[in-house]
Amino acid sequence: MGLASTSGGFDVTVLVHTDMASPHVMHVGSEAQLERLSPGILSGELITAVGVTEPDAGSDVAGMRTTAVRDGAGWRINGTKMFITNAVYGDVVFLAARTDAENRYGISMFIVEKDREGFSVAQKLDKHGWRCSDTAELVLDDVWVPDENLLGTEHRGFYEIMKNFQNERMVISAEAVGAAQAAIDLTLEHTQTRRAFGGVLFDKQAIRQRLAMAQAKVDACRAAVYQGAWMMESGLDATKYMSGVKAFANETVNEVMYECTQFHGGMGFMTETPVVRLYRDARINTIGGGATEVMLEEVAKRSIVV
Ligand SMILES: Cc1cc2nc3c(=O)[nH]c(=O)nc-3n(C[C@H](O)[C@H](O)[C@H](O)COP(=O)(O)OP(=O)(O)OC[C@H]3O[C@@H](n4cnc5c(N)ncnc54)[C@H](O)[C@@H]3O)c2cc1C
Repeated sequence: MGLASTSGGFDVTVLVHTDMASPHVMHVGSEAQLERLSPGILSGELITAVGVTEPDAGSDVAGMRTTAVRDGAGWRINGTKMFITNAVYGDVVFLAARTDAENRYGISMFIVEKDREGFSVAQKLDKHGWRCSDTAELVLDDVWVPDENLLGTEHRGFYEIMKNFQNERMVISAEAVGAAQAAIDLTLEHTQTRRAFGGVLFDKQAIRQRLAMAQAKVDACRAAVYQGAWMMESGLDATKYMSGVKAFANETVNEVMYECTQFHGGMGFMTETPVVRLYRDARINTIGGGATEVMLEEVAKRSIVV
């Protein structure tokens, strides 16, 4: 699925709904930027990242302090970005910076190549989950980028980021549903082979019914994600719907992960057990890409009737 579009002979459709960084260039990138970046992204040789969050501004995106100031035929960027996925091994960051000091929402996006002078990875962060993906803090110390690296419309970056968040929320929710299904499958296998009380654990109604309910919840979340994907694909405003799905699906998946590790007993506390990794990885889902509370606000403020 995705928006039909081609660039330089490449079908860039695949850039949408496949990851969380490249949709930024797909949605607002110029033809020249798409031609420059799409081949590497599609071949997997160019790893991209999104740099929005800062040490003092996460949920409150408009509170960011990184600045980009006009300098000759380009921009001079200064600031710090936090929790950036792919920041260590990536090649390019789609980075947000304040370009209008007078307007809280006066933010623009820039394509920042990692080899630019003044760009550095301050620290690789050690995480509870998602341990196979790199996350880091970035420092931009007088980094200069040319005008051609402005991504999207000057001062409109905040709204462009928000638009991309819809895609991100859908991708995170879909990933969560897949992980929860894997956890249920592992738990069905474990409980149907683990012997106890003269049978297997799955003989116990307290276990089999809770797993049945977990499956029903995951099925409901999956259907909700499909509905959101269909709305987005149809060009409908999915902000309220997808925010609700992001909140509900990712909280639900964490409940399911809890149940699944519980039914693994002591092995559910061992790092070698696959379900433990799924359990750890799911924890970020209610925080990243818009915390549950922030998602619920998106729903609530669109639900005011008087
Ligand atoms: C592994 C990982 C990968 C990430 N990757 C990226 C990336 O690639 N690019 C990027 O830009 N960012 C990335 N992030 C950052 C992520 O998007 C933020 O951590 C997230 O948006 C929350 O921001 P924060 O950490 O500053 O928490 P805060 O904004 O300080 O919020 C803390 C908590 O307060 C609550 N809260 C916040 N706002 C409200 C509210 N309005 N009402 C009620 N409760 C509220 C929520 O429970 C929230 O979790 C990543 C984070 C992690 C951990």
